[in-house]
Amino acid sequence: MSAGRFAPSPSGSLHLGNLRTALAAWLVARSSGAEFLLRFEDLTTGAAPAAQAEQLEDLALLGITHDGKVTCQSERTELYAQAIHQLEQLGLTYDCYCSRREVREAAAAPHGAAPEGSYPGTCFRLTQTEVRKHERAGRRPALRLNGSGGIQTDDFVLRRADGVAAYNLAVVVDDAAQGIDQVVRGDDLVETTPRQVLLQGLLGYPTPTYLHVPLVLGLDGERLSKRHGAVGLQELRALGVSPPQVLGYLANSLGATPQDSPVTAEGVLNGFSAQNIPTQPWVFDPSELRSG
Ligand code: GLU
Repeated sequence: MSAGRFAPSPSGSLHLGNLRTALAAWLVARSSGAEFLLRFEDLTTGAAPAAQAEQLEDLALLGITHDGKVTCQSERTELYAQAIHQLEQLGLTYDCYCSRREVREAAAAPHGAAPEGSYPGTCFRLTQTEVRKHERAGRRPALRLNGSGGIQTDDFVLRRADGVAAYNLAVVVDDAAQGIDQVVRGDDLVETTPRQVLLQGLLGYPTPTYLHVPLVLGLDGERLSKRHGAVGLQELRALGVSPPQVLGYLANSLGATPQDSPVTAEGVLNGFSAQNIPTQPWVFDPSELRSG
């Protein structure tokens, strides 16, 4: 059975950009007969029940249905620890004591063929004396992957210094454990994909197909955010815009309907083809929605 997913972080309300990505992921899954799973990526935010409840309500109002139980990364830490152990057993990890600032400064210096901003391997092969010095200074190490100087990825973090699994590790473990074979997400994450594909290979997991949906911008050309006013479903409802109107507008922006008139999610499925999703960022003009 094929499966897609939407994996929001419960860090607040979903804005139209997030909802558009959720709709795209749902359409790709449902139009191919795949299951659609919901996963809260709450490793950095904490469980945040109020935000989760609001996000679930928004998705339900739009008819973006999901299968099975909603999962939370904070409940899956044992799985991440096992995968990290597997990489440690393969000798593919090393401790890193660098602070964020040190990483930033080191990454700014040119170092061969690695991608821009990459970690240059400062802590690879630390001596015992250096380790003791860091430990005496009260530093706790993060754990990095030894990417062996590959040009696709750098030595990214697997486990943060506070012991929490890092995003790339957790996503890869979850996608594999949940049988996700189609990843549809915002194209702000496109740069994480080579890292995730590398991890899948090392851990013996299959690689899903990836589709990165272009971002939504405000009229000022900046990435859509709360600053742009009423950009969440509840805020728009308060202005008299109904969920089917929002859905019609988003579906049209994804090339799934010829007009932006009100629709139901099921109603959009027929005309949907992932190939029609525009490849350019989409600009949200609030006046179009309110007059619609
Ligand atoms: N949790 C990420 C976000 O909210 C999405 C991760 C993913 O889809 O891989 O942007």
